Amino acid sequence: MQGSNKYYPPDFDPEKHGSLNSYRGKHALGDRARKIDQGILITRFELPFNIWCGHCEAHIGMGVRYNAEKKKIGSYYSTPIFSFRCKCHLCSGWFEIQTDPKNTRYVVVSGARQKDEEWDPEENGGFAVHDTEKNEAPVDPLATLEKTTDAQNHLTKVQAPRLEQLQALSEQYTLDPYELSRKVRKRFREEKKVEKGLQELDDSLKGKYGLPEELKLIRDDEGSKKEAKEEWEKGRRILREQSAKRRRIGVEIGSIPSSVASTSRHASKTNSKASGSTALASLRTRILENTARHASHKR
Ligand SMILES: [Zn+2]
Repeated sequence: MQGSNKYYPPDFDPEKHGSLNSYRGKHALGDRARKIDQGILITRFELPFNIWCGHCEAHIGMGVRYNAEKKKIGSYYSTPIFSFRCKCHLCSGWFEIQTDPKNTRYVVVSGARQKDEEWDPEENGGFAVHDTEKNEAPVDPLATLEKTTDAQNHLTKVQAPRLEQLQALSEQYTLDPYELSRKVRKRFREEKKVEKGLQELDDSLKGKYGLPEELKLIRDDEGSKKEAKEEWEKGRRILREQSAKRRRIGVEIGSIPSSVASTSRHASKTNSKASGSTALASLRTRILENTARHASHKR
């Protein structure tokens, strides 16, 4: 029995026995290690593909599990190659399957036949995946030479000059970082100064005319000046036309007989003093006549 518990018998001597397993004469892996002296370990092995047994010709499906004798039989570079010997569960005949690290697969070595079910993409209208080395075209020395010459030409005529250009550009940019930085900062300061001056001007204007703080003033350039001038002239023209119209109306009023004007005035203001109203009427008549005369002179 394996020394799986922690009971140490009275005659156990660590110097002599080393461990409980060796005291009992058992391997830590127990019965699975019964052929360990031959380099064989019993493991559970699952068939990676369908096979036909070579002894009873029975079909054994993929995934059937056996207690296989696992043994290292060699190595591919540093990867060990293992062989698995299994006993057919129908006829007790042995068959052997090995790992194939080079092609990352399993191969049947003896005692059985593998059912060929490998998917071949090329056969099914796809591209070959694994056999890239097999279909390589034979080496043509002339074609190789041509390729090399082309590559050489490309290198000297296109790549090298471009690289040199890039290098020169990079040197130009990174030659004197301090000087470049200084220039940039100086320009930035100047721009900032101008910007600040304009802002102050705007603020003073807003303060002067009591304009709201958030109002945006347009910049004082040629375009805006011209526009403003045009607007101003337009406004003045409209004002002139209006005053001329007013004058014309005044002339029409002036052509009405003064007596009518005065009588109407009398009628409307019967309660006022008679002498005062007559003086007012005569003044009004005089003003209207003056305006009319002035207008006709102008014409
Ligand atoms: Zn069999």
